[in-house]
This record gives sequence, structure tokens and C-alpha cells, in this order.
Amino acid sequence: VNNIVRAPHKKDESTIPRVSLHTYLLEKLRQNLEQYGDHDWLINGVTGQRSRYSEILSKTSNLASALSKMGLEKSDVIMMYCKNNHEYFFPVIAAWICGASVTFVAPGMLELQVLNQSLDSKPKILFCDEETFEKAVKVVASCNYIKYIVTVGCKKNNVLDLSGLMEDDGKAYPEDVKIDIDRDIAYLPYSSGTTGLPKGIMHTHRSTLSLLFSFSRMQPNPGFVYFCATSMFHSSGFVYAISGMHTMHTVLFLPRYDEDDFLQTISKWKVVTLISLPPPLVMIAKSKKAKNYDLSSVKYILYGGAMMSTESEVKLRETLPNLKGTFQGYGMTEVGGITTTFSLPTSGQNVAYRPLEEAVKFYEAPLGSIGRPNLYVEVKVTNVKTGESLSPHDSGELWVRSPGVMKGYLGNPEATSNTIVDGWCRTGDMGYYDQTGHFYLQERLKELLKYRGFHVVPSSLENILLKHEGIKEATVIGIPDEEAGELPCACIVPQLGYRINPSEVEEFLNSRVSDYEKLRGGVILRRSLKYNEVGKLDRRALLKDVLLNQQEL
Ligand code: AMP
Repeated sequence: VNNIVRAPHKKDESTIPRVSLHTYLLEKLRQNLEQYGDHDWLINGVTGQRSRYSEILSKTSNLASALSKMGLEKSDVIMMYCKNNHEYFFPVIAAWICGASVTFVAPGMLELQVLNQSLDSKPKILFCDEETFEKAVKVVASCNYIKYIVTVGCKKNNVLDLSGLMEDDGKAYPEDVKIDIDRDIAYLPYSSGTTGLPKGIMHTHRSTLSLLFSFSRMQPNPGFVYFCATSMFHSSGFVYAISGMHTMHTVLFLPRYDEDDFLQTISKWKVVTLISLPPPLVMIAKSKKAKNYDLSSVKYILYGGAMMSTESEVKLRETLPNLKGTFQGYGMTEVGGITTTFSLPTSGQNVAYRPLEEAVKFYEAPLGSIGRPNLYVEVKVTNVKTGESLSPHDSGELWVRSPGVMKGYLGNPEATSNTIVDGWCRTGDMGYYDQTGHFYLQERLKELLKYRGFHVVPSSLENILLKHEGIKEATVIGIPDEEAGELPCACIVPQLGYRINPSEVEEFLNSRVSDYEKLRGGVILRRSLKYNEVGKLDRRALLKDVLLNQQEL
């Protein structure tokens, strides 16, 4: 009916409690601690440093008191600029208690990028670590919204540090912050969306709680260990860590991605369930080092965020002798959490609430599918030209409706109205579904590139390239790469009469961007770029040309 696809057992939104995010999570955590006892929450797979569930209650209430003494109030923002660590989410929960929201930046981001996000989101407190401290100090010097820097996991002279703040006497705990769950923002990650520069994705208390609820196994699973080889600043790390307050599972993480640490963590902790983006999985599949580690414990892999080829999946099975299933999921920060997930059987058996060991018996997703719509989620495929919703096997843009969809982009009503249309969120991803409601992704309509899961925004690189006097036109495209996903490649039309060489362009850009944005796909000099009939840049046609080595200078 209407060509809208839902989970076989779509859940009613009214089952999601209408209370603020932290009220719900802290209450649930108290009940869980009483019922199941204490468990590890976040464990650093390399150092073994950990936080326990019981610590959340005492530490976040002290911290909320400290933050409110520092003037953090309702509608303020804090910014997390740290690598993964076992205390990462204490400030996040404490900010919610104060009625504030939280924005996140990747630790590898350069000052200028952090400054842009700071000028847009106006954080009052910036949390940083040893690695980002110096950059953070420079950001604060240029952004007078930020009143305090707080270090995490290290101490600096005359700078507040997280462990000190968590020893606060708790006297200024903000008791009565009134939250409007449908309007007040809790979670404010950044993404370029389908086009343009990075924007703040406003998730309210309601949409954030809803995205946690759509997390497939939102049922107590005390002590069950997920090895999340993902980033805490990204929704994939956020969802698994925060939903633990509801489910009491344990999250094993890496402070940063590294091949040896990754393999070592699997063997040292005897990891059974692994959550990852494709790049580390492709790495395992190809790794010469894998045979030096005991990887026999791995049974289940949940992955998403980018495509992985069937060949890599097959190779992965050869490398991991006891692998029983790989489950692919698809999501986008704007639509909240996991949008489609591995198959729930047509019989209507509600596997989403079963432990993985049992779910795997019912697993019947066709190869290459990103699964079916998750609980609470509806998906339709829309004809890009006519806006019509399409029937099975017709390909178009995926549109998503769910209580987890963002409220909009911060301070950007135009981008919001281009993305959210009649309550549906456009994803910028092309795909189709089959008769059984399984979805398949085809290609991206939007300009966003993903290098190892990091967002690379072509237009921000293009703006930098155009500052070079020898460059007349510049476009950045993604060269498909099995291991990394896509490699940023610049196509350049030189200024008339200007002699420019690719390595000069590469150096010019690479010295001005974060590591993940570097032009690993190279620089191509061209006579012209490619435009469509309405005169818009046609990135897909350009990529095709590049892959066929056409029209190079
Ligand atoms: P993010 O907001 O960082 O989660 O990025 C969302 C985008 O990642 C989506 O719009 C897709 O383009 C891409 N993506 C997510 N999951 C998958 C998947 N399973 N396969 C291919 N691309 C994916």
C-alpha cells in the first residue's frame, strides 16, 4: 500500500516513553543495577581502562553540578573533541542533565574546521584530550563563545580536568530543568547531508531516545560484549555506548584505529561480536598479519556505513574460521541510528528482540541487501524527477520517516526544507527494494564522500583549491577503493596560461586539511569538468570519465 515499506512488526511510537532522554536512561539504569548488578560499560581494548555502569550515576551527577557551577544551562552546548576513551560519555550525560546539548568533532579535525563548527554551534565548554589540547587552545582564542576548556585523561596547568570535576560535591545539581522533548536539542552531530558544507543535525530528546529505541536489541543483555571498532563522535559509537544504559551490555573500543591493536584486541578479549565499518573488515580479509592472531572467537559481525563487496565478505569468512553471520545495516545520522537492518523473517518472528545466537538461526537476508526497515522506521523509494513512490525493483532515492528523524539543520531552514519533505527525510542514497521488503543500495546521489567512514565534503575541499591562483575550476570526486571506500581525487581545470602540476596541487591542499581529507585519489588536470543539461556539475559523469582516463590534459 502506497509503496511504503515497514518492518513486519512496525512498533507504535507510543511505546517510546515521553520523557527527557536522561530521565529515562538514568531511571532505567537504576532499575537495571538493582536487577542485574553492576557490569563494565566501556573498556579500552588496548589499555584495559574501563568504566562501570554504577559510576554513571555518581560521576554524572557530580559532573552536572560542576558544569552548572560553571554556568552551563538549558539550551547551552558542550563540544567533545577527544579520541575514544572510557570516560567519553560522562560529560555528555551530565550536559543533558543541565538541559544542554552536545556536539562532536573528530579528533583528527584541524583547528579551522573545529572553529567553523564552534562558530556555528556556539559551545560554552570544550572537552579535549592530550592529542587535541593545543588545537583546542587555538580554537578558544578565536571563539569567544567558549568559556572553558576541560581536559579528559590528562592534566594541564591552569586548565580544568574531567576527573577533578567529577569529584564535585554535587551541591549545584540542576534538579528542575524543564525539557520540552519535542523541541529541546540533546544530540548535535555534524554532517554535510546531501549537499554543501557541514551542518548541525538537531536531534531532540525525543528523536534521540527514539533512535536508541530503534537499536535492534533494546532489551537487557547484561555483560554481553560488543567490540565496537567505531568512533564515539559518530552515531555508530554513540548508539552502542548510550543504549548500554538500557541494555547493560559492555562496549569494547579502540582509542584509535590501528591494524595490530584491532587484531590484538580480538584475540586478547576473545571477541565474539564485532561491530565495524567495512575498512577494518576488508583489512582483516587481506591482512598478512591476521594469521599471527587467534581470531577463532569471532562469530558475528554487524557492519554498515559503507559498501563492502561480496568478494571481501567471502574472504572474511575464510579468515575467520568460526564466523556464523555477517549482518549489514544502513543508516544516516539525520534519520537516526539504524534505518534498515538484517532480515527479520517474513514469518513475523520478532528476532530483533532475541539474542544474536538465536537471531542468526532465523537470519535470511539475501546477499548484498542492507536489510529491512528497523522498528519504528518506514522507508520509500522516490522517483527523483516526479517525486512518486516506486514499487519493488524500481530504483530511486530512499526517503525515511521515523520518530528518530532529526528536527532539522541548526540555523539552516533552507537546507532543512530541502531535506525534510512532508515529514520524510531524503537520504541522497539511491536504491530499490524487492517483493519481501529487503532494500539494496546502488549509488549516492549526494556529493558526500566517505574515506574510511570519515565524511569528506567535496565542496569544502573545492573552496580551498579555488584559492590557488593557478586553478580555474576544481571538483573533488571519490575514486572507489575496496579498503577505504572512496579516495578523494581533485579534477582541476588550470587558469589559462598558468603552468601547474598535480603534485603542487596536492601539496597545496594536503597542507590545509585533515589527514582523512588528503587527495589520496590524486589530482587530474582537465580541459573542462562535466555539466548536465541544466548546467549543474555532473560528478557521476566526471567520475566515469576519470575511471576511463578520458579528457585528461
Ligand atoms: P553517516 O551519516 O555518517 O552515518 O553516513 C550516512 C551515509 O553512509 C548514508 O547516507 C550512505 O550513503 C552511507 N551508508 C550507510 N550505511 C551504508 C551501507 N550499509 N552501505 C553503503 N553505504 C552506506
